[in-house]
Amino acid sequence: MKVIVIGGGIGGLTTALMLHARGIPCEVFEAAVQVRELGVGINVLPHAIRELAGLGLLPELDRVAIRTHELFYMTRAGQEIWREPRGVDAGYDVPQFSIHRGYLQKLLLEAVLERLGPQAVHMGQPCTGFSQDEGGVTAHFAPGAALAQARGDVLIAADGIHSAVRRQMFPNEPGLKWNGVMMWRGAVETDPFLDGRSMVVAGGFTYKLVLYPIAPGRTPGKVLTNWVVTHRVDPETTAPPRREDWNRRGTHDELMPHVEKFGVAVIDLPALVRATPDFYEYPMCDRDPLPWWTEGRVTLLGDAAHPMYPVGSNGASQAIIDARALADALASSEHGRAALAAYAAQRLPATAEIVRLNRQGGPEGVIDEVERRAPEGCADLDAVISFEERRAIVRGYAAAAGFTQDQVNRPSA
Ligand SMILES: Cc1cc2nc3c(=O)[nH]c(=O)nc-3n(C[C@H](O)[C@H](O)[C@H](O)COP(=O)(O)OP(=O)(O)OC[C@H]3O[C@@H](n4cnc5c(N)ncnc54)[C@H](O)[C@@H]3O)c2cc1C
Repeated sequence: MKVIVIGGGIGGLTTALMLHARGIPCEVFEAAVQVRELGVGINVLPHAIRELAGLGLLPELDRVAIRTHELFYMTRAGQEIWREPRGVDAGYDVPQFSIHRGYLQKLLLEAVLERLGPQAVHMGQPCTGFSQDEGGVTAHFAPGAALAQARGDVLIAADGIHSAVRRQMFPNEPGLKWNGVMMWRGAVETDPFLDGRSMVVAGGFTYKLVLYPIAPGRTPGKVLTNWVVTHRVDPETTAPPRREDWNRRGTHDELMPHVEKFGVAVIDLPALVRATPDFYEYPMCDRDPLPWWTEGRVTLLGDAAHPMYPVGSNGASQAIIDARALADALASSEHGRAALAAYAAQRLPATAEIVRLNRQGGPEGVIDEVERRAPEGCADLDAVISFEERRAIVRGYAAAAGFTQDQVNRPSA
């Protein structure tokens, strides 16, 4: 069986490594001419790190990422609502990593090139669609690409939130859904804050700050600190940014009035933002869950299958888990089409539930709930929302997303 993987992002590259580990040949076709370290911070949760550890990548991850120790949820004014240890510090058998998205992509690419060989990765190959028949599936590429087409037994579309393959499968699907939240994201070298391995989420959907270190700094004693500031406008009255304007460079003039809304004491936020020369603007979008992912020899994976709001740290994590499930299905079936259907039957309902929960704020919904009940802040948090209620929101999400300790620390399959 030969597998064609469209997209060399985190999902596509992990799929290639998983297939290789099971002796299934595959080739990756990526639109970009070269992999550049794009994006800023992401968190990869223990249930996904477990899969990367199974591929032998833990030492590499430790070299370029930070083992997240503790997570804090706060109000926008900086009042603590929830704190919990994370990863190994919470009793998982593997860490949670805070990492630069570009470093993770590069690390995966290097592993693919080393293990599968350079002939397995084709850069500068934007897929425009596919055709299939009884004998196999053909991926078609844009004019000007080195290869006009590629043939295989199955095709995995890991081509991200704007997936061309998904568009062919669902031509009448409405566009991306925007909830009115604009995100500004940047990373800059700073002194460590708190214990140097902590993550802070402050504020609900209207104004939110996310802060965590993602790598050791180039200067000894410093860390590369990732920050995200979000602000929600009314999506009914404001048009979402055009796709060409995604990842546009932000300006301090536009952002600083929003930054001043936060009263978080763990770091000098205005100074942090001012010290960041380049940061990027991005709308918070997802899509409605699909009724099916698999059409004969073709299936969807990662953001192509289930783009979700980036709350609860699940975008990359769920793509990695998809990759494992898909590779297992292909390894245990003689028939590619049956394997793809089995994979989708397992992963579609699970990820649809996370898309739904993320629309309500995911575990961070606990912050929205506090701000809703006490918009001016409160002296006694427990009188506003009990510890049990707070825990129910946070833990309910962890169980749905598959990363309670029992779900992660299971015996290896
Ligand atoms: C440039 C970029 C920056 C990002 N920054 C962040 C961030 O800062 N924080 C965060 O939480 N998440 C970020 N994300 C999203 C995050 O990486 C994904 O949610 C997650 O990793 C799921 O991975 P994926 O492989 O499904 O999709 P992606 O990581 O988006 O990978 C999709 C890949 O497919 C390629 N591709 C797209 N169209 C085609 C095509 N037609 N033919 C061939 N290849 C194609 C893309 O170039 C990309 O390499 C970013 C994604 C991208 C592409």
